[in-house]
Amino acid sequence: MDLQPVLDDIVATLEPQLGAGKVASYIPALASVSPRRLGIALRTREGAEYRAGDANTPFSIQSVSKLFTLTLAMRHLGDTLWERIGREPSGNPFNSLVQLESEQGVPRNPFINAGAIAVADRLVSCCDSARADILALLSSLSGETIVFDEEVAASEASSGFRNIALANFMKSFGKLDNDVAQVLDFYFHQCSVAMSCVQLARAAAYLCSDGRHPLTGEAVVTERQARRINALMLTCGTYDAAGEFAFRIGLPCKSGVGGGIVAVLPDTLSLCVWSPGLDETGNSLLGMKALELFVARTGLSVF
Ligand code: GLU
Repeated sequence: MDLQPVLDDIVATLEPQLGAGKVASYIPALASVSPRRLGIALRTREGAEYRAGDANTPFSIQSVSKLFTLTLAMRHLGDTLWERIGREPSGNPFNSLVQLESEQGVPRNPFINAGAIAVADRLVSCCDSARADILALLSSLSGETIVFDEEVAASEASSGFRNIALANFMKSFGKLDNDVAQVLDFYFHQCSVAMSCVQLARAAAYLCSDGRHPLTGEAVVTERQARRINALMLTCGTYDAAGEFAFRIGLPCKSGVGGGIVAVLPDTLSLCVWSPGLDETGNSLLGMKALELFVARTGLSVF
């Protein structure tokens, strides 16, 4: 199937709706991004790449970074990672504190903020420099130099009261090993990374090729770990709307409040859509529609 006309058509179909949704404003540096952007990029398992719209424009990857920190942590820690983090959908907003209290500081899954902060803590412990390691992983996977956006990181640090509360809460349960400030410094930096749809579609390609690096073929994670990451994306990757995503799209996805969504069709392709306007669940409004159109037009879905 020629996928280029499919991507072009998705962008053309959604063009009249550009600007729909609400750009995240609780992180001040994100509030100034124009909502009238839409990009989509796709990479097949064989390495063919397609792109349309604003696919080359870097954006703040935010929670999409949780996919890659989880990958690093699974690589370093294997199954011991799961001693402090669950694998169930939370059914609560991504930054909720309530469940942590009744569940003794053990976050439901690695994709809600508490879970990602717990993963960040483990990486701070096991890496010489967690910051350098995440940039090295993203740069290697995408074949381009990836950097933090220091302005976004500083903006998150100055407004991240909930994340600060979550980290302190877990620390009070003895579930973080490192200083809260050190863990959050890494967490805010991982969220600040700027990447384009093209770079992210490529960076996620190991998830559609049994864990193998898209450019070198080396193992990024094992086949079993890749399968597990995809399972977590499907069940927990899109905030409180994972059921709706499975129902309407049927692909493992990870979204971020910057408006990016990475999606994977195991053994076949990885793709990334970006549009900054969010729906009430925090997922990109047009990004979700673009994925729905993609699946409807190609029939490519895990179901
Ligand atoms: N940095 C954001 C936060 O911690 C990430 C949120 C997201 O993309 O889900 O609130």
